[in-house]
Amino acid sequence: MQKLFTYGITLAEAEFLEVGMRVSVPFGKSKIYTGIVYRIHSNAPTAYEAKDIQQILDDKPVVNGIQLKLWNWISGYYMCTMGDVMRAALPSAFILESETVITKIDGIIDESLLKDDEFLIYEALHHQSSLKIHDVSNILDKKNVLPIIKSLIEKEAISVEEEVYEKYKPKLVRYVKLDTNFSSEKALHGLLDELSRAPKQRDVVLTLFSISAKTKKPVKVSDVLQESGVSNSIIKALVNKGVLQEYHIQTDRVQYSGEETVSSNNLNQYQETALEEIKNTFEKQRVTLLHGVTSSGKTEVYVKLIEDILLEGKQVLYLLPEIALTAQLITRLQNYFGEQVAIFHSKYSLHERVEVWNNVLNNSAKAQIVIGARSSIFLPFSNLGLIIVDEEHEQSFKQFDPAPRYHARDTAVVLSHLQQAKTLLGSATPSLESYFNARQNKYGFVELMHRYNNVMMPDVELVDIKDKLKKKRMKGHFSDRLIEEMTETLNEGHQIILFQNRRGFSPIVECVTCGHAPQCPNCDVSLTYHQYRNQLRCHYCGYNTAMHKTCEACGSPEINSKGFGTEQIEEEVKLLFPDYKVARMDLDTTRGKYGYEKIITALEQQEIDILVGTQMLTKGLDFRNVKLVGIMNADNMLNFPDFRAHERSFQLMLQVSGRAGRTEERGKVLIQTYNPHHNILQQVSANNYIDMYNEQMDDRYNFKYPPVYKQVKITLKHKDYNRVETASIWYAKSLRQVFGDFVLGPEAPPIARIRNQFHKNILVKIPKKQSLAKTKEAIIKINNSFQSIKDFRSVKVILNVDNF
Ligand code: ADP
Ligand code: ZN
Ligand code: ZN
Repeated sequence: MQKLFTYGITLAEAEFLEVGMRVSVPFGKSKIYTGIVYRIHSNAPTAYEAKDIQQILDDKPVVNGIQLKLWNWISGYYMCTMGDVMRAALPSAFILESETVITKIDGIIDESLLKDDEFLIYEALHHQSSLKIHDVSNILDKKNVLPIIKSLIEKEAISVEEEVYEKYKPKLVRYVKLDTNFSSEKALHGLLDELSRAPKQRDVVLTLFSISAKTKKPVKVSDVLQESGVSNSIIKALVNKGVLQEYHIQTDRVQYSGEETVSSNNLNQYQETALEEIKNTFEKQRVTLLHGVTSSGKTEVYVKLIEDILLEGKQVLYLLPEIALTAQLITRLQNYFGEQVAIFHSKYSLHERVEVWNNVLNNSAKAQIVIGARSSIFLPFSNLGLIIVDEEHEQSFKQFDPAPRYHARDTAVVLSHLQQAKTLLGSATPSLESYFNARQNKYGFVELMHRYNNVMMPDVELVDIKDKLKKKRMKGHFSDRLIEEMTETLNEGHQIILFQNRRGFSPIVECVTCGHAPQCPNCDVSLTYHQYRNQLRCHYCGYNTAMHKTCEACGSPEINSKGFGTEQIEEEVKLLFPDYKVARMDLDTTRGKYGYEKIITALEQQEIDILVGTQMLTKGLDFRNVKLVGIMNADNMLNFPDFRAHERSFQLMLQVSGRAGRTEERGKVLIQTYNPHHNILQQVSANNYIDMYNEQMDDRYNFKYPPVYKQVKITLKHKDYNRVETASIWYAKSLRQVFGDFVLGPEAPPIARIRNQFHKNILVKIPKKQSLAKTKEAIIKINNSFQSIKDFRSVKVILNVDNF
């Protein structure tokens, strides 16, 4: 599905132009687009007359040949156009076109650096907050204005508008120092005497004193807590007394502070063996899967591999799920590699992203190691030696919307082929497809089954809530066992994480009299109750309304909440443990500026005793003092209607459990469930990946699911139900003529209407021996016939390859 267009150039332009440069081209009647030169040739197109390009925008390529090959592969494999790939790949500042809106950048620039035309535009932006490209054309009375805009962007005078992003955020760290009143030796002795009847407080002062003696740097609260072994409340008490002063410093994680780097840790014997094995597999294989249990020190192994690659003078790409790109990991790598680390993140400003792009393009010393989320596979690497895909099982490596609907892990494997580089996939709970590939010897395979320092795997206990309910041993959603364990953990001064798979207070409200549940007017879903704002909200389209006082259908005032979410758990914890600090981490609490960071930092610094959260909690975080993890209800994960629900539940529960007890003391995990004999729960308790794998693979064989079969999902959307119904029947019938029983549907998804569009899904299953390429060709052919039918033209079709 390439959809490339040919444009005319002059001989002189042909001399100058190179593949990978940008050109501005006319499109349709009056539009201007930015295009990338894919090929320079002398074959005139037959179906249309080639228009001339308007202007060359670059004097050297911004995209290299390997990238274009990758784009080509993505467009073919994921059945989208090269334009779709280009839009995902290039920072939006690179794509200038008639619809582009430009704005002035806040701040002052040296106006003398601007050429006349540039100054005119810059000045115009003082009177108008934004301009479109055609406004710029009118102001300058010129057609070719993209070079001027490009230059203004480079001079940091203007910016192209994009969705509002949050600038990458500094991390606030808590520090303490002794109040200046006690700086004299005499005052200090007086203080220590005074504190002799408060030994813990005295310990804190002495600890602070000894840490300050060793280092001249500010002293972190977390260091004092760790060395003195007291709880945060003791420090608070000293601050209240005026003995200690508390302050915060922003540690900016983007700009490396320039401190000396430290050398990497020596590996223990298991890590050493794993490292050797990985290197051995790389002799024969391009891709290796590292299955390493949580806290086995996979990162330390990666670090050694990275060191080797850097010595060879090659670049490294370290891919992580967006949410796992935490300060913890970034700081760790910056400590080892200093300025060579660049971070590429969707939360970066446009300008920062362009900067990283250019540093990679120029193979600058500042971008030898790129840490980034899925879109960093699009960076212009020229000399890549290694790709690490950490937490490779994470679903967020797949882009669902818009096209290209690519999977960054799988694309990374292709990229490493193109770059002659190696790929290491790492996880404590590998995806079935990667494990399957390793079993088939398609990938190398290495295990690391010992936790670092012999920290024991947490003790997992299943709590039968059905039984507890019968015996009246539940308080709200808390079993007596969970309350006991929580009490004990808190008494010992440790922290707790409670995991609940749903956000909101109680997902659904229901009338006790007639059973009516308020629905979203735009989507086929029940609204969710959010206590915090006393609102009913739709999680699909954002629709919201005030919570009803009486039932809309029958007027009854008795409205019940069914199910439960993080917010309700938080409320219940506050009632059960009023003396402890409770916080919540979910999409709602982390949406705001610094939200996610604030909560993580607060937990690290032991300002939170109990954290209630959703899957966000599972991502590679390392909290020293968390000893208990409670999974409030395993069943709503296990019962999710998806062929991967069991695999995902296993991964999620094991990853959450991995947050408990990462130091000497053994952690504890309590899983509450109605069905304690469920195989997945047994496998989680026993930390038995292999059993889970074998059993799930049997299902995948029997029911013809990936990784045994490949699949392409086709979604049709239209606001008119009848039209999408007829269209999908036609589509499925045509597919059946080619693929027979391997076509499922059309079927309405569980939520059949979203944002007023009705959806229908068709699934094509592709057996291993059937050619994937031929299958896609056939689908495209059917798709083309479909588009040519007048009635169907307004139906939107989405092709999703590997839609899981
Ligand atoms: P994983 O990624 O496998 O969950 P990490 O790499 O985060 O594990 O390691 C867990 C903890 O153990 C980290 O705090 C890390 O600093 C420590 N650790 C692991 N290996 C070593 C080592 N060889 N030397 C010192 N500390 C290590
Ligand atoms: Zn809705
Ligand atoms: Zn009612």
